[in-house]
Amino acid sequence: MYPGTTAEAAVGNTVALMLALLMIAYPFYRVLGMLVEGTIEGVEATVYFAVLLGFVAGIVTTWGTALGFLLFLMLGALCFAYRFIQATAERHAMDRMDAEDLAECDAAIERAPALKWPYDRAVAICRRREEYERAIEYVERYVTEVGDSAEMQRVLERLKTLLRQRAVGAKVCPECGTENYAGAGICLQCGRSLALPSDLLAGCATEMGLKALSATGITLMVAGIVLAIVGADGLLVGVLFVGAFSASVAYLYLRS
Ligand SMILES: [Zn+2]
Repeated sequence: MYPGTTAEAAVGNTVALMLALLMIAYPFYRVLGMLVEGTIEGVEATVYFAVLLGFVAGIVTTWGTALGFLLFLMLGALCFAYRFIQATAERHAMDRMDAEDLAECDAAIERAPALKWPYDRAVAICRRREEYERAIEYVERYVTEVGDSAEMQRVLERLKTLLRQRAVGAKVCPECGTENYAGAGICLQCGRSLALPSDLLAGCATEMGLKALSATGITLMVAGIVLAIVGADGLLVGVLFVGAFSASVAYLYLRS
């Protein structure tokens, strides 16, 4: 007998629906809060909500089967993915704070161009943000306004090195600091592994790649739900949902 065709199964489906809705209540509430506060853009939230609800629909249609159980586990994992969205919100807040701090530095430089601290602070902020060109501009401005110094020359050299390393995609070994060529798997100097699993994911992290990922996740999920409703093979539906799950988690992770 296919699930959903008897009164007993209908009760089971209702229980499954209630349980699944309870599970997503907290992450839903948290992400909605961030959306209302304006700390995230609507895109991540929309994708996340769609995926959560899609999995709930999948669970209800496949309840009572091994697949339904698998979907339940995946929904449980997805509930924790709101932390990625939270990380995005924190990054946005950090961006805003940095922008305010830099504006303050600019204002201080305008008022008293010979003071050193606004330059130092601006350079530190830009460097942390990996905005090396902008950091170099501050150093150059200091040299023009105040005069050259050995310290500023060192800072400038370091910034130019960082800029060049980034331009050529050099992998700097975190262990010994050796600069390895772009595709290096291990450090030429000390043999430390340089290939990170995130390297592969980072390749998708362009705006285009992210759009494709979220679209893939949702398309697979919708296909999974439709096939589950028409009673297609459980394995096929399972594969679609696992694909949807992976694509959505990768998307949320990369956005964060
Ligand atoms: Zn090394």
